[in-house]
Amino acid sequence: MTAKNENLDIATQVVHGGESDTAPTGQPTAIPIYASATFTYESMDEIDKVFAGEKSGYIYTRYGNPTVTALENVIREIEGGTMACAYASGMAAVHAALLACELTPGAIVLASRDLYGATTSLLQTVFGSFGVKTITADFSDLEQVRRKAQEAKPRVLIAETISNPLLKVCDIQACAEIAHEAGARLIIDNTFASPYLCQPLKYGADLVVHSATKFLGGHADAMGGLVVSRDEVDRMPLIGVMKLVGGALSPWEAHEILRGIKTLAVRMDRHCENAKALAARLENNPRVGRVYFPRLTVSDQQKTGERPHRPPQHGALVSIELKDNTREAAFRFMDSLKLCVRATSLGDVFSSVLHPATASHRDLSPARRRELGINDGLVRISVGIENVDDIIADIEQALAVPEPGAVATGSGS
Ligand code: PLP
Repeated sequence: MTAKNENLDIATQVVHGGESDTAPTGQPTAIPIYASATFTYESMDEIDKVFAGEKSGYIYTRYGNPTVTALENVIREIEGGTMACAYASGMAAVHAALLACELTPGAIVLASRDLYGATTSLLQTVFGSFGVKTITADFSDLEQVRRKAQEAKPRVLIAETISNPLLKVCDIQACAEIAHEAGARLIIDNTFASPYLCQPLKYGADLVVHSATKFLGGHADAMGGLVVSRDEVDRMPLIGVMKLVGGALSPWEAHEILRGIKTLAVRMDRHCENAKALAARLENNPRVGRVYFPRLTVSDQQKTGERPHRPPQHGALVSIELKDNTREAAFRFMDSLKLCVRATSLGDVFSSVLHPATASHRDLSPARRRELGINDGLVRISVGIENVDDIIADIEQALAVPEPGAVATGSGS
């Protein structure tokens, strides 16, 4: 508020100076960062009405903020949902989506065995401590999922559109049918595909979750999470978690993610094109034992054949298992990279690499990792939007680096 009296002491002027009662004229062309924790009104009566929900307005940023609302609106639109809610991280979003499904003591969750490790740990530790039981299934085996859903009568099924790090594409439509037949809801973590490649609500998912830290933000400079629901019934639980648990997204981060989303389409086209070229090239590399790259496009898998005007998109991640399937070989390859960044994330404009056995799946026993196919020589590559020849050249030169004491074979070409 403007300090009206110019005779005020400097101690008062420094607090109130420069603040304006009125919004500036002229609509900003970019959403401003509403860096304000609180919002004021002309009278207590107005504040009372806003608190009572009789008048729309912002009160306190943990309950809502205009910059955060702008982000919620865009993700709701592009995912085709009824409502969306933003959180401080992808994990806060996963937690909120699960809570919205009424996971009371005794409830059962049927989770993909390929889920992001922290999601599995969240289910087993936090939800487990409240009496929620988690069972797992291989979601690429639909008969297994159906059998377990019918036997266990879970309240929720949860899977990822593209799994990490073996990049299996989930048949969302089939999983939604299985979930609904069993009286359960389906949560899909769409982080690896982004809404540009797949919109799970269209195929029957009930709630979609994103780590906005990845492709949506896209620049490794913001952390956030989003939940989009098809059903208005989720509004109160999702907003309630944000208000009471307090994992609200900051307007600063919301602004970075909003800016990232503006280029999502062009970035994803380039990411996917580069990933496809890299996967094809690595198939023939003598140092690579196996290339993991979705053979079907994400929309093929959803059996819709939509967007025929776009070239088929297979996602932006490529995982490779080295022929020398050891941690030493993987580390040597990763340490020899000059362009690709060694980092624990994905979906950024730059190419990055991660060693699942010592990062995302570190907490699993070696036996469990082997069972899941996560071997020590496995490396996940998040393919960036750099020039594809530069990416390929960097990866090939790093693959060609010989074991200490061995003679180079020139295998990089
Ligand atoms: N879901 C998936 C598939 C992820 O890969 C991650 C993080 O890597 C998360 C959720 C958690 O997101 P955040 O790190 O933003 O909490």
